[in-house]
Amino acid sequence: MRRAIFPGSFDPITLGHVDIINRALPLFDEIIIAIGINTDKNYMFTLEDRKKFIENNYKNEPKIKVTTYSGLTTDYCKQINADFILRGLRNPADFEFEKAIAQTNRKLTQIETVFLLTSANSSFISSSIVRDVYRNGGNISGLVPDSVIQK
Ligand code: ADP
Repeated sequence: MRRAIFPGSFDPITLGHVDIINRALPLFDEIIIAIGINTDKNYMFTLEDRKKFIENNYKNEPKIKVTTYSGLTTDYCKQINADFILRGLRNPADFEFEKAIAQTNRKLTQIETVFLLTSANSSFISSSIVRDVYRNGGNISGLVPDSVIQK
């Protein structure tokens, strides 16, 4: 069973995340979208909302599960028997950041990180930009899936 985890804050899930998840679906038997709980971070959307947004978007996709976790991502992978970590790359900053984490994870475990390059039409989307637009009353409909808009 090829099980991957896609870890992130998903505050909120965006069309950039959706692009990566949809393109990864044929590569894995199961993708666990794992919302990391970091007590040092201030989130705009509650954990329940962030989870609901993702669940509602994938309610007809049996290969996707949504969970939450805290602590080391690699420990969580071992706990749920996931051999792969899925991440998206948008730009050189993402690459440098992700490289160090993936290499560290590889030093600690056998878990392989699989990177997908962002699609040309969603490379500019980030949760932080979505939060900024939303906070200032802008229209986020072209940036997030319908499950977020419905709220
Ligand atoms: P984190 O706080 O772990 O970066 P995010 O929710 O911001 O969590 O992102 C989770 C993953 O989704 C990361 O691998 C990030 O690079 C990827 N990602 C976010 N936005 C995009 C996008 N527009 N295109 C491709 N990958 C993206």
